[in-house]
Amino acid sequence: MKYLWCQVFLDRLEENISNIRKMDDKKIIAVVKGNAYGLGIEGITEFLQDKIDYFAVAEISEAKRVVGDKEILLLTPLIDIEDIINPMENVIYTIDNEEILEQIPKDFSNKVHIYLDTGMNRMGIKIGRLKYVVEYIENNFPSMILDGVYTHLHNTKSRKGTLNQINMFKNEVTPFLDIIPNIHCLNSSGFLNEEYKNEASFTNNIRVGNLLYGYEGSDKGFKKIFSYKAKVINKFKVKKGCKIGYGEKYKAKEDTLIGILGIGNIEHLGFNKDVKHNIFYDILKACYHHLRKQYCIFCNNKPIEIIGKPNMNMTMVNMKGVEDEIIFKIDITPILADSSIIKEYTYDTK
Ligand SMILES: *Cc1c(COP(=O)(O)O)cnc(C)c1O
Repeated sequence: MKYLWCQVFLDRLEENISNIRKMDDKKIIAVVKGNAYGLGIEGITEFLQDKIDYFAVAEISEAKRVVGDKEILLLTPLIDIEDIINPMENVIYTIDNEEILEQIPKDFSNKVHIYLDTGMNRMGIKIGRLKYVVEYIENNFPSMILDGVYTHLHNTKSRKGTLNQINMFKNEVTPFLDIIPNIHCLNSSGFLNEEYKNEASFTNNIRVGNLLYGYEGSDKGFKKIFSYKAKVINKFKVKKGCKIGYGEKYKAKEDTLIGILGIGNIEHLGFNKDVKHNIFYDILKACYHHLRKQYCIFCNNKPIEIIGKPNMNMTMVNMKGVEDEIIFKIDITPILADSSIIKEYTYDTK
């Protein structure tokens, strides 16, 4: 029985894309790493393939799951030379260090993008070395297609740091603007910031994930494209004064009808859905919310009382005032939720 599922509203996804198109005419690289931010890479790429310019993933295993034949930028550092010795046809590989160049077969004929390090300091070609790398590719790889160059803004909250990154990038790529077709540095939060966007006017692609799925940009009309739903799998009557659940933490104040939902810790119930920064930030935030009373189950927009603590795969709720065949809306972060939760690709009927 289907007792927990994730609705993904494709019309909202499409609206988010047209919103981006209205704001700018840069090419859209749709980032679908992490199982399309938890929303299902197959379903999302199938729908997006004719609406975006190309995809980006973090691992080759993800590239294999992308539906359709759009090009896919592989964002990972190229640690594994195996990936590049048997290249996937429509994958654009990232060149992020000079050593790897020496190991790539000389007849390599895929497209590549060069990744420049502008301060994130986890990988990338160093500033000052782009000219060398471009010449090395031209002189050693007759079939390799140098298709792009990019960098990543790692802390868009810091105005000074971000402007500095964009300017470092600009100075380094300016001599190549007519030679290298795709230049990109803006992610979702970079794109949403007018100042960064203006500063990056020399770029012609954006790489966005959060914005597509509506985890960011609600103030600019971007819509969350998902909603978790659950049905009651069982009901149980308890008398006033009975203690309920693990650790007898809850005592019924009156005769109570309890509904059992087939969801629990394993689905990260109660993890707040707003992804603003990164997963670690969200876990900290979730711990904070855990200590405060916070509702994460709703019925017709009214918060529902959770009885006791959610178990591994069961949560008890107070059914007072809840109709029989009701469907609950559940707050879960797709990024943290169990990826096996059924996805229902649908249209918002508002
Ligand atoms: C994840 C990722 C993105 C997308 O970032 P959003 O904030 O979701 O838009 C862009 N570029 C790189 C290199 C990434 O790893």
